Amino acid sequence: MRLLLVNDDGISSPGMAVLEEIAKTISDDVWVVAPQSEQSAVSHALTLHRPLRAKKHDDRHFSVDGTPADCVLLAMHQIVPGGKKPDLVISGINIGANLADDLTYSGTVAAAMEACLFGVPAIAMSQFTPTIGEINWDVAKRYGPDIVRKLMASGFPEGVLMNVNFPAAAPGASCPVSVVRQGSRAYKSGMERREDPRGRAYYWNSGTRFDVNAAPGTDLAHVRSGGISITPISLDLTHLPTARALEGVFG
Ligand code: MN
Repeated sequence: MRLLLVNDDGISSPGMAVLEEIAKTISDDVWVVAPQSEQSAVSHALTLHRPLRAKKHDDRHFSVDGTPADCVLLAMHQIVPGGKKPDLVISGINIGANLADDLTYSGTVAAAMEACLFGVPAIAMSQFTPTIGEINWDVAKRYGPDIVRKLMASGFPEGVLMNVNFPAAAPGASCPVSVVRQGSRAYKSGMERREDPRGRAYYWNSGTRFDVNAAPGTDLAHVRSGGISITPISLDLTHLPTARALEGVFG
């Protein structure tokens, strides 16, 4: 099985090393094509107005001066050889959870979306991080391989990717794995105005987020309570009940 690994934190992120460790328990045919620098929150952006450069670190590791979606495109079309598409793309493991509305900002999830557009099964993986203290990768290392194997065995419907989040938990902790729905969060406050040393204004996003829906059964609730969340995400964003309600209005 051929695995392509990508992320949005950059090729040297410790999350990529953990993901590679997980991937190598599943296959020997593992390829890493990841951004050369951090690309968090670039979502599904593509580089269209300048050339892309790829750096070969060794036969299976490449960094790209572009976005996570660029990495997937470049891997599929140029880097991974033999015309053999990967059997699975895993994006991550992101440092920081991708829950609720994070999905629409996330470069990690967008790389999985790009793979999904190619018809390749794709999993986004993210690690909830404590505000203080070291990141504990033990949960991801222990549970990751089994989650990947089970998801591959159960199959990926067309246009659907899997979003997995690992909780911040003590080493050795037992973590329930649950399929849960996306919660929702929104930004409040937001842009702070400051002045540079020459007296000119600049602005910095200082927003914090509040829960709109973190009810039981959401990814937010499950991961915060120490569980591992799996949420199938559809690339088709159509809201069918509203579409149906609008039938006749424009008919
Ligand atoms: Mn990131």
